[in-house]
Amino acid sequence: MKLERRDSLSVKLFQQVLLWAFIVGIILSAAQIINDLRLERRFIDETAEQILAMSRDPATQAVYSFDRAMASQVVEGLFEHKAVRFVSIGDPREDFQVVREESLTHQPWRALTDRLLGADRQYAIELRGPEPRHEYYGQLRLTLDTAPYGQDFLQRSLIVFISGILRALTMALVLYLLYHILLTRPLSRILRNISQINPDQPGRMLIPVLPGHEKNELGLWISKANQLLESIERNNNQRREAEANLQHMTQHDNLTGLPNRSMLQDQLTRMLSDAGRLQKGVAVLCCGLDDFKEINEQFTYQSGDALLVAVADRLRASSSRLGCLARLGGDQFAMVQTGISQPYEAAELAQTILDDLQRPFVLGDGTVRLRATIGITLFPDDGTEAETILQKAEQTMMLAKTRSRNRYQFYIASLDAEMRVRRELEKDLRGALDRQEFHLMYQPQVSFDQDRAVGVEALLRWQHPDRGLVPPDLFIPLAEQNGSINAIGEWVLEQACQQLHEWHVAGFADLRMAVNLSTVQLHHSGLADKVAALMQRYELPPLSLELEVTETGLMDDISAAASHLNNLKKAGVLIAIDDFGTGYSSLSYLRGLPLDKIKIDKSFVQDVLLNEDDATIVRAIIQLGRSLNMQVIAEGVETLEQQTYVINHGCNEGQGYYYSRPLPASAVADWLHRYNTRSLTPPLSLHN
Ligand code: C2E
Ligand code: CA
Ligand code: CA
Repeated sequence: MKLERRDSLSVKLFQQVLLWAFIVGIILSAAQIINDLRLERRFIDETAEQILAMSRDPATQAVYSFDRAMASQVVEGLFEHKAVRFVSIGDPREDFQVVREESLTHQPWRALTDRLLGADRQYAIELRGPEPRHEYYGQLRLTLDTAPYGQDFLQRSLIVFISGILRALTMALVLYLLYHILLTRPLSRILRNISQINPDQPGRMLIPVLPGHEKNELGLWISKANQLLESIERNNNQRREAEANLQHMTQHDNLTGLPNRSMLQDQLTRMLSDAGRLQKGVAVLCCGLDDFKEINEQFTYQSGDALLVAVADRLRASSSRLGCLARLGGDQFAMVQTGISQPYEAAELAQTILDDLQRPFVLGDGTVRLRATIGITLFPDDGTEAETILQKAEQTMMLAKTRSRNRYQFYIASLDAEMRVRRELEKDLRGALDRQEFHLMYQPQVSFDQDRAVGVEALLRWQHPDRGLVPPDLFIPLAEQNGSINAIGEWVLEQACQQLHEWHVAGFADLRMAVNLSTVQLHHSGLADKVAALMQRYELPPLSLELEVTETGLMDDISAAASHLNNLKKAGVLIAIDDFGTGYSSLSYLRGLPLDKIKIDKSFVQDVLLNEDDATIVRAIIQLGRSLNMQVIAEGVETLEQQTYVINHGCNEGQGYYYSRPLPASAVADWLHRYNTRSLTPPLSLHN
């Protein structure tokens, strides 16, 4: 609320003082004027008496001697006085009378003064002879006009009145100023300071003491108010602390200090809504300890509690990967993993936790190993409500416990099986290189212009001891995730280079080898040096090695990709962009990269004769390659018609089952020889 000027105390005071000073001034002035009026009347009377006294003797003389001339002289003398308007000297017995009279003077303020003083005032004295006879001779009568006295009186009254008012005004002004300086100004300063106080933390900023007012009422007021603010703040803090404690108690588990179910539900609700917005996955892991009851019975309840605390601590240690960790009660804990994009990530976390809990816990004098069972639900697949998703995780965990323990279980059975396979594959993958379970197959690439095979693409195979051949589309992403792709990729490169050298020596001197590079490998520093070293070791001529990279790998970080590719180019290799058309490539980025070749993805080639959209894409890619001066190879060519189509639209090379499936190294030389000398054997020569 803002203080209006007219509401200010000093202005109010000014108005009041002014009013009262006026009233008092008027009363005092009026009293003074009334007194003055009384004095004025007396003054007129005294003047008249004086005049009469002065004229007494000559008038007596004139009456006594009936001397009219003398009497007239006396009368004229009296008229010298400005207020005299009537004089008579006379002796009634002797009929002696000298009279002079003048009319009242005309004055504008007469009307007023006549009321106060009367229009005129009459006086008379007796004229007597000397003592002792004291004989009566006659009378001297005098009338004074009051107008001249009235004028003086009015002037004085006016001055008295005006000065009274002026005094009142000055007093009011002085009082106003004093009041303003002494009270209003400091009060408004206090007001300003008070309005800056944060009501939530009133004791944080106290009201400053005003200089000069330390000891007076204002100073005392400020210090009292400050004490009050401080104690309010203290009380607030205590209340907040108590509330926080209460809140903590109602939302946390007493034993472990972890959030309890109710808080978990709140947090989970929030996380799910965030995840829904960001279109990310969330996993809820419900972890129950196996055989905790037995441990409780075997040891004491105190040890059981201590064990639960230790479990909570251990879970906390891996909580950096968690959105939330809570104790649901008893031997059950819940974990929320946010921002996941693959169910696989939840499986990995669950396994880590299981492994973690298996490390021995110290309990009393001995140690125990814990096993646990984890139920996993995924958002949004298994539910979108916090309550449902949590409940399903608990059910899944219970169910899993009844079957076998010390494992994790997904809510969806098929997913569960898939995750299990992936996890096992991933584990097996780590040792596969050492166990020599990998080998390469080679798929030929033919040049349409030269009408002969010009290269091969090395394709990795994993011969799993139990599962047989594992498709690269399955295990390469796993290898990328766990980092083993670097070692595997190096092995592929080395193997391919060595093989190429053998074929060069065997007479296929200008054969080219294409090797697939994973994105992880591409961003691994030192790749260019390794490639250069391999080429030197196996005496590979420049441009005989081609590295295939995918669009998605390049798009993530264009500038880094450009510098990596440039380094590779310096080592003398060709760069091909694989699976072209499936990513989000844009022309502008293609121009900025040192690419030699585009590989049209097999999905487009396969439907090129059936689907007009795919045909359009194929034509556009060929066109693009030509305009950027790149070679274009169609992969996945399975029929003569497909080959004819891509040739007719200007494609340079082809690869696919139409020519050959991927071959073991031992079969390649033979195939190459047959293909390049096949001129007599249709249908391979049909296309020219
Ligand atoms: P890619 O690089 O696009 O390889 C071509 C895939 O298409 C190969 O599958 C090949 O067997 C298959 N293919 C070839 N011609 C035809 C055809 O006419 N019709 C059909 N339907 N398929 C054809 P493969 O060998 O299973 O490889 C799958 C993917 O695995 C490869 O796709 C590549 O991305 C990856 N890969 C294979 N070897 C390696 C490797 O050594 N390193 C890396 N990083 N990735 C590899
Ligand atoms: Ca490839
Ligand atoms: Ca491809």
